[in-house]
Amino acid sequence: MGACFARFNVALKPNNLHVYNTLTRSKERFEPLNPPHVGMYVCGPTVYGDAHIGHAKSYVSFDVIVRYLRYLGYNVRYVQNITDVGHLTDDADQGEDKVERKAKAERVHPMQIAEKFTRSYFEDMDRLNVLRPDISPRASGHIIEQIELVKRIIAAGHAYETGGNVYFDVASWPKYGKLSGRERQEEMVSGTRVETAADKRAPADFALWKRAEPGHIMQWPSPWGNGYPGWHLECSAMSMKYLGESFDIHGGGMENQFPHHEDEIAQAEAATGKPFVKYWLHNNMVTVGGQKMGKSLGNFITLQQAFEKWDPMVIRLFILQSHYRSPLDFSDEALGATENGFKRLEGAFDVLTQQVQYGPSGPLDPEAAQVFGEAFRRLNEAMDDDFNTPGAVAALFDMANNIYRVRDAGRLTGPTAVGLGATFKLLSNDILGLMFGPDRLGMSPLKAGRSAAVAKHFEASVLFLIDLRNDARKAKNFAQADAIRKRLDEIGIVLEDTPQDTKWRFK
Ligand SMILES: [Zn+2]
Repeated sequence: MGACFARFNVALKPNNLHVYNTLTRSKERFEPLNPPHVGMYVCGPTVYGDAHIGHAKSYVSFDVIVRYLRYLGYNVRYVQNITDVGHLTDDADQGEDKVERKAKAERVHPMQIAEKFTRSYFEDMDRLNVLRPDISPRASGHIIEQIELVKRIIAAGHAYETGGNVYFDVASWPKYGKLSGRERQEEMVSGTRVETAADKRAPADFALWKRAEPGHIMQWPSPWGNGYPGWHLECSAMSMKYLGESFDIHGGGMENQFPHHEDEIAQAEAATGKPFVKYWLHNNMVTVGGQKMGKSLGNFITLQQAFEKWDPMVIRLFILQSHYRSPLDFSDEALGATENGFKRLEGAFDVLTQQVQYGPSGPLDPEAAQVFGEAFRRLNEAMDDDFNTPGAVAALFDMANNIYRVRDAGRLTGPTAVGLGATFKLLSNDILGLMFGPDRLGMSPLKAGRSAAVAKHFEASVLFLIDLRNDARKAKNFAQADAIRKRLDEIGIVLEDTPQDTKWRFK
């Protein structure tokens, strides 16, 4: 099993990228194993319910990391799994499979639940302009690879079979705990866990393969009888299948450091004898009004609920305004402030777009260009410092302020607007993934090509309606002119009459 990376040369931009590595608890210079290639794996969702704002924080954070690495010139292969089997309701190898439990409650096949929530997950992420991973492997589609991995771990002497279950023998693996500094043994003995499976040699041991009890729907034949994989196994098996036995970046939520990531490391390294991952990156969690979010606490916010109230781009900007390793507190007041900020950025983008067409002619303004160059440098510096998006967003706001300042001074010439526009779009859109104006129609990145065409037709249609309205005004048919303005306003388009012409913008 090797990672087959295509050979091609890419010029890397000079950079000073440092990333915080949970494994070493320090910021390290980013040096991939096989530049310019970067293999990156991020733990994906368990698809048994709607995605919530915690998912948004995690996957927007890793989306910006992928975007920045690609901007620097790295050839990133981004793998993010879909957990559709094996994730139990309890960490200590007890409880029900989450997908199967939901399926039983709704009286449908577990794969219907998995498919439904996989689709809605991607649709929610599309609206946040999160680029889709290059590979989204499903756990249920990689049972063979998982069985093979279990066989290798048994052969290496680090797992044992008992009555159709296979457990990892934690006592045989002294390196266990190197990521989180936590010991399974201690946790299980001192913790308040439910009783451990009677057939384990030690409470710390964890399931690689589980025997299917009667009535269990999701099961496959294996050398140990019919059963299904333990949750932690899929990430070791699928990351190594697509990225090789040693790869560069593994990401996920901090709450998954233990036991999930610790178990992934033990499984992979016990089987291969090689270091599994070079850099471990973990994002912090979302709180709501200062409280941990949870279904039982009644403060659980799905993305679909959040989108009813807030523009997905406002949510994205809100997430980027805090560092991925910092907790993020979600509140209406904070989102309201971000909404105002987003309007200011979008307004600056509109100014540039309109000035390209209608601005005064004249040369590129050197001072404006210099201010932009400086903001660009600061944004790079921030991103090089462990993807410091709050610093990058601050630089973007400085650019927006500069755009308004130059415009108000009457120096925003067409060439200046073109020059600033290219830089502003590179930073806001390519790197930070924010979308403004007509770009926001047809949010799916998969439809990006089509949405550009749609946006063009859309703009032409609005201009046509503006012409009709102006014709009506000239003919003194003010009722008709007002009706056109009102209808456009109802669909969110505001007209602004200037002495020269009529401009339009989104509300
Ligand atoms: Zn995982």
